[in-house]
Amino acid sequence: MTNEKITLESYREIAPKGTVDFIYKLAENLKKKSILHVNSTRSGGGVAEMLHRLMPLFNELEIRARWEVLKGTPLFYKTTKSFHNSLQGAAENITQDMYKEYKLLNEQNAREISLESDVAIIHDPQPAAFIDYKPKTSRWLWRCHIDISSPQRRVWQFLRDFVSRYDGAIFSLPSFAQKLPIPQFLMYPSIDPLSDKNKDLTSDQVNKVLAKYDIPSDRPMILQVSRFDKFKDPVGVIEAYKLVKKYNDCCLVLAGGGATDDPEGIEVLNTIKELASKDKDIFILDLPPDANIEINALQRAATVVLQKSTKEGFGLTVAEAMWKGKPVIGGAVGGITVQIIYGETGFTVNSIEGCAYRIRYLLNNPELSSAMGEKAKDYTRRNFLITRHLSDYLALMATLIEA
Ligand code: UDP
Repeated sequence: MTNEKITLESYREIAPKGTVDFIYKLAENLKKKSILHVNSTRSGGGVAEMLHRLMPLFNELEIRARWEVLKGTPLFYKTTKSFHNSLQGAAENITQDMYKEYKLLNEQNAREISLESDVAIIHDPQPAAFIDYKPKTSRWLWRCHIDISSPQRRVWQFLRDFVSRYDGAIFSLPSFAQKLPIPQFLMYPSIDPLSDKNKDLTSDQVNKVLAKYDIPSDRPMILQVSRFDKFKDPVGVIEAYKLVKKYNDCCLVLAGGGATDDPEGIEVLNTIKELASKDKDIFILDLPPDANIEINALQRAATVVLQKSTKEGFGLTVAEAMWKGKPVIGGAVGGITVQIIYGETGFTVNSIEGCAYRIRYLLNNPELSSAMGEKAKDYTRRNFLITRHLSDYLALMATLIEA
């Protein structure tokens, strides 16, 4: 392993030709400008994952980039998780006290955090009410990372009052766009090919991780990496695996962890532990937030990667696996549908039976499976790398500052 510093130049040979020069060009007029990102957790989940990687690159381009994290209370996180669930369509009971806590915590945090910046990106519902405290000259965008295609009306109406006052909103898919009086932008998330999560590993490193968790390396491995969240459908994954297991010898790894802003994870984890308790070929790994090499190794060791979500804003885990040359089977929802090209880079599925059928299809056709994996890697290179994401942000900054 090297400790070589990662700079924009490090991506020149990895990203599509011309990308790095394009970024330098875009950043020329943004030097000394500032960008502030605000979200609600520094670890766990895709938003934190991306911000960790993007911040140094903004700074390298001499853009003054800052990342602030809202601090909540248990009631606040319970509330925002309920917001999250109901924006993704689930029925939730959100009381007046919860709405009150949401507003109060937004006010307290907005007063404590310095909000001065040329441009601010406020991520997801948790800090959306910061807009009440926006400095006059700053330009603010609300960045929504979740699948908001069919939200519960009441919560969306509550949030919409805040969102409508931003200078614009960014969604991960066109189908997430809302009726809003402000400009709306489309931006796909991204993965960093040079992070510990995605960089190349030796087979020795991969094997060490398998040995650490006693995962057999002599038979196919089916993997899903996800926070333990019901929308990721870990129960459906276990059921699909059980159907496959009747015909194909294989093991299943469900690797996940919690996020500090997600209080529901433990319940989901207990449910799946119970479901898996009688099968020694199911490995449930509750990983710490910094288990990047472990996740990288598992994705490389897997034969088939699943992301069987029933709702998904984007699903970075799909791009991560595709980058490692794996065909992915994913729920036909949200951002998964723009990453998986059906029959080319993997399969989208709508049921447990469909998922099991496609797992068996890939296990039984290893050559076709690896050809799909190659295509998946190429598609990820062209569409979902951090360099593309950075250039999207720079282009938006330029537009907002000039406007
Ligand atoms: N992840 C992780 N540890 C875990 C579970 C997930 O590091 O135990 C990472 C995963 O590799 C991915 C991100 O967290 O980079 C999850 O992003 P995604 O968009 O797939 O889902 P989200 O959690 O944001 O809904």
